[in-house]
Amino acid sequence: VPLLAARDLVKTYGGNPALRGASADLYAGEILAVTGPSGSGKSTLLHCLAGIVRPDRGSVGYRGERLHQLSEERLSELRRTDFGVVFQFGQLIPELTAVDNVALPLLLAGTARPAARERAGEWLERFGVRGQQDQRPGELSGGQEQRVALARALVTGPKVVFADEPTGALDCLAGEQVMTALVHTARECGTAVVLVTHDDRTAAYADREIRMSDGAVLPAEVTA
Ligand code: ADP
Ligand code: ADP
Repeated sequence: VPLLAARDLVKTYGGNPALRGASADLYAGEILAVTGPSGSGKSTLLHCLAGIVRPDRGSVGYRGERLHQLSEERLSELRRTDFGVVFQFGQLIPELTAVDNVALPLLLAGTARPAARERAGEWLERFGVRGQQDQRPGELSGGQEQRVALARALVTGPKVVFADEPTGALDCLAGEQVMTALVHTARECGTAVVLVTHDDRTAAYADREIRMSDGAVLPAEVTA
């Protein structure tokens, strides 16, 4: 059984269809790349799978729950406990230091501040950015910022991490470091990853790739 199953998703923005019947499965622990041209619906599919966007039609199943029918309360709880997100940029809180950015999801989950900061420090260590723990996002390089963002996405032990062009703003080397760190940690923790990318080199880190075109996921034989 898939961990997440999207069926026949339709989503329209002001008459402009972003998804026209997209279906996809994500299995526990797998790293799934979602590729395809700009505007083909990759981000919208990711947002529907992550419970950030509600589809107009279709269903998203997650461990016996139907995400598209859940209350906002239950959705935000799931986003806190089960899902982590990493976007292209602009996701860290600029006023908070690296360690406080990573500690934040733990504080929201009820962990006391000293324990949260200690655990956040361990995760920064894991991603090679412990030395930057007292710096604010504006003082970090793009690659360091994304590694802090990965630490923040993974610190609560989510079942799934949703990464939307996580290397999109990085040069080649920094992109490789971020992908290596993400894949290594996801495997170690058994975390599934949905990776939206238009970059073949980034997609090559995935176990499986699905391609989108015009708001739908292409059949596997077309992709291969
Ligand atoms: P991709 O990630 O493949 O580039 P998107 O899912 O971002 O594709 O977008 C698919 C289509 O939906 C595009 O035409 C885009 O402009 C449109 N779209 C996506 N999000 C929004 C939004 N929040 N408001 C209006 N249009 C949107
Ligand atoms: P990408 O194609 O790299 O996924 P986009 O530039 O299409 O990125 O979208 C970036 C963000 O803006 C997404 O959250 C998307 O939902 C939103 N968006 C995309 N197109 C539109 C649009 N036409 N109007 C409003 N928001 C949009």
